[in-house]
This record gives sequence, structure tokens and C-alpha cells, in this order.
Amino acid sequence: MSVPENFNKIKALIPENVELVAVSKFHPIEKIKEVYDCGQRVFGENKVQELLTKVNELPSDIQWHLIGHLQTNKVKYIAPFIDTIQSVDSEKVLLEINKEAVKNNRKIKVLLQVKIAEEDTKYGLEIQEAKEIFSNYLEQKYPNVEITGLMGMATFTNNKIQVKAEFMVLKSLFDELSKFKKLEKLSMGMSDDFPLAIECGANSVRIGSAIFGIRNY
Ligand SMILES: *Cc1c(COP(=O)(O)O)cnc(C)c1O
Repeated sequence: MSVPENFNKIKALIPENVELVAVSKFHPIEKIKEVYDCGQRVFGENKVQELLTKVNELPSDIQWHLIGHLQTNKVKYIAPFIDTIQSVDSEKVLLEINKEAVKNNRKIKVLLQVKIAEEDTKYGLEIQEAKEIFSNYLEQKYPNVEITGLMGMATFTNNKIQVKAEFMVLKSLFDELSKFKKLEKLSMGMSDDFPLAIECGANSVRIGSAIFGIRNY
């Protein structure tokens, strides 16, 4: 199937109230344009350098999300334009995002990335760290940052029971934090597990290969 066909198929499977972030990492500008021409405006990239190259070559009304680990020294490059940084995995990087947001005279939306998978290779905050950061946030420690939600990745496994349990951990944290201040985005689910993520309460999904095809890396 072509990229537009894939996109329309995925779009049809996602309820209207669930945001679709089209993950275009490793894919060329031409393919991204095809998806843009289908009406998609929210795209996700996981590397700052690749994102910067693409931003310059694509329409300016795209809302870019960073979904990969962000080094503190690279925050300044994306602070002027990034829509949402989904991958906040330390207080250090959050403080830097706040600092650069001040310099750019804007507020930057972020999601706290929480570690829910059992693999220890994946980045993300422990639940307790996420709670502490959120509590600092409520006390105005990062005034130019808006924490709009949580992001998580489940373990890469066919075991649906395990994946579901991991998603539910994030959903519970989302509900708990929302009691203090309403969170908007629960970002979980990728090409292989997005229907399950939506069942578990995700209202934002990050889909790459099911739209763009297999990545060559
Ligand atoms: C690559 C990536 C995705 C998309 O993965 P697919 O399996 O291609 O849909 C989603 N989230 C993050 C954080 C990623 O790095």
C-alpha cells in the first residue's frame, strides 16, 4: 500500500478524540509531504539534527513533537519552534527547557516520559520522580513550561497482558496527577500496540512504520 493509503487506514482506526502523531523519523521529505497533503499536521521526530533539517524543508504550519531523548545542550536549537517535547526524562532537561523558553519569550508544552517498560534500556522517569517534578511544577518551579501530559512506551513483546498492565500503570498516574491539575495528553501506543493503548485510555498515539513503512536503519 502507498503512504497515503496507509495513513487513511490508520486514521480510520483512530477515534476522533485521539490525537495522531505521525512519526516521520528516518523517512524522507517526499513521504512526509504525502502525509501532509492528506491533512496531517502533527509530526514526531526523535533526533534534533534530523528534525532541524526537516523543519526547514517543510511547511511552517506543522506542529513538531520531539519524541526521543533530548540532551540538555540541544534544547536551544528547538526551543524557538517546537510544539511539544514528549520526552522529558529528567529534571535537568526540564530546567533547561524552561530556561530556553524564557529566552524565546514563550511557553513550551512538554510531556513527562515515564518508564513503564521492564527493559532498562528505555529512557524515562520513575513514577516517584515524575510525581516530584509534577509537584515542583504546581509550585511554579518551571513557569515557562506547560506539562500537558505523560508519555510512555510499553515493553516490546507480544504478551498483551504485560503491555496492558504497563499502559494501565501510566493511566493510573495520569488520573492521579490530574486530580491536582487536569492533564490533557496521555501519549502511549505505537504501530504495534496503539489499539490496546487506546483501550487503556491513551488520547494521543505515536505511529511511524504503519504509515511510512519499515524504516531502513
Ligand atoms: C519510533 C517511535 C515511535 C513509532 O514507532 P512505530 O513502531 O514505527 O510506530 C513511537 N514512539 C517513539 C518514542 C518512537 O521512538
